[in-house]
Amino acid sequence: MRDHAVLIAGGGPTGLMLAGELALAGVDVGISERRPTRELIGSRAGGLHARTIEIFDQRGIADRFLRAGQIAQVTGFAGASLDISDFPTRHPYGLGLWQNQIERIMADWVAELNVPIHYGTEVTGFAQDETGVEVRISDGRTMRAEYLIGCDGGRSLIRSAAGIAFPGCDATTSNLIAEVEMKEEPKLGVYRTPLGIHAFGRADYQIRDGEVVYADQGPIRVMVTEAQVGTAKEPTLHDLSQALVAACGTDYGVYNPSWISRFTDVARQAATYRARRVLLAGDAAHVHPPDGGQGLQIGVQDAMNLGWKLAQVVKGTSPETLLDSYHNERHPVAARVLRNTMAAVALRRDDERTHALRETMAELLTMDEPRKRFAGMLSQLDVHYDMGEGHPLLGRRMPDLDLVTTGSSIRSYTLLHGARPLLLNLGGENSMDIAPWADRVQLIDAEYGGEWALPVIGIVPAPSAILVRPDGYVAWVGDGTQAGLADALTRWFGLPGTL
Ligand SMILES: Cc1cc2nc3c(=O)[nH]c(=O)nc-3n(C[C@H](O)[C@H](O)[C@H](O)COP(=O)(O)OP(=O)(O)OC[C@H]3O[C@@H](n4cnc5c(N)ncnc54)[C@H](O)[C@@H]3O)c2cc1C
Repeated sequence: MRDHAVLIAGGGPTGLMLAGELALAGVDVGISERRPTRELIGSRAGGLHARTIEIFDQRGIADRFLRAGQIAQVTGFAGASLDISDFPTRHPYGLGLWQNQIERIMADWVAELNVPIHYGTEVTGFAQDETGVEVRISDGRTMRAEYLIGCDGGRSLIRSAAGIAFPGCDATTSNLIAEVEMKEEPKLGVYRTPLGIHAFGRADYQIRDGEVVYADQGPIRVMVTEAQVGTAKEPTLHDLSQALVAACGTDYGVYNPSWISRFTDVARQAATYRARRVLLAGDAAHVHPPDGGQGLQIGVQDAMNLGWKLAQVVKGTSPETLLDSYHNERHPVAARVLRNTMAAVALRRDDERTHALRETMAELLTMDEPRKRFAGMLSQLDVHYDMGEGHPLLGRRMPDLDLVTTGSSIRSYTLLHGARPLLLNLGGENSMDIAPWADRVQLIDAEYGGEWALPVIGIVPAPSAILVRPDGYVAWVGDGTQAGLADALTRWFGLPGTL
């Protein structure tokens, strides 16, 4: 294992996304991954939300996921389904696709970008100085990187070794999930008892008319609430059997588990995402209950936010202070997820009052405005980074528009495939000049005659130009002049002509 400019600890979805982003920006990056191979044992995330599909679309790889998964309306809160088919996005839906398949597709993409993934190696510690980080690897070797990024999951060693506090709430409920065989077949579906929720399904399923239809055969996927908050010990078949008996009165003759794991409703968030040359992303920075299926999404989106900023700092285009905007932008996003998942857990309870509250909530969510707000939040289509007052597009995701450039049509997300900043000039050919930044910002003259619509917000005034960061968020909006453009270019992409 050789030295890299950036070493990522952990090759889960967050680490893979970050590696892809750094590689696209031409930064020498490597991943240390504890698992012996890329195969992920067990099931975690069940799919992708709309904004994550858009993120992959911005890199030209969304089709790989769409081909492998099943499109469906997956957004929901506390049992209420939230249809996003009227949202102004090319992907007004989610995608059913297990995390091991998601990771396989991401690992293939990262391999195409020639990122070395050192499987079977574990980061065991590090020491940082003025110019870099000395990283200790489990095989006894030491390697040096300019930056070390902890994408090493909820029990992050990088987070604890960096001394970063992880405040939040301890677990109040505990669930086992497993893939097993059963001598008696349970009725597949989701059930609620005074103990909590339990569910039976199969890994293979189809979505027909919006309903999940499980395969007739194959191992059973089971999820069951434990009577006690779980211990830190690895769960066993005996634990699963006991939990099933407590919840269902029988364990259905459970045997032959391929895997068993436990999750809880613990909700914690790193106090800071950066300690000098060490940064955190994904579950290493935030853990929360799986309600709403948001963890993988915000991890991938953390990586998208951090990747281009870190690349510019490593390449000397931008000062280190640019990295502080990573914490400032992404910490509030995960804080909101912690809040909505904690609320969802509270609404999972089975007493009469919670039942009444759940019904009240579901009724509210049938109304258009609450539905849009919650769906915008859960699909992450409404993310808004604070870039000050201004046009509603400022700090929000650029819509994927059908543009016309030099006589041919092109989608605006296609212009982001290379992960380069983009100044989209819609105000007439050759009417803008950004010569001092021409080495790093692409200037595209285009025509667009359609509406500008944002999820949740609706129609917004058409801009004369927009400056789009590599992560797809709008950093400046033109009103027919270049007022403020040079400041925005300098803030996000470095001083003029410093390359
Ligand atoms: C039951 C369940 C259901 C879920 N459902 C959803 C869902 O539907 N949608 C959703 O978005 N999210 C869901 N999640 C959450 C999602 O699985 C996580 O948020 C996601 O895996 C986080 O990705 P990550 O890359 O940050 O961390 P991880 O996936 O945990 O990856 C961390 C990686 O780091 C490696 N590693 C750890 N320590 C070291 C070290 N010291 N050195 C080197 N490598 C190391 C690990 O082997 C691992 O591969 C669910 C989670 C659970 C438990």
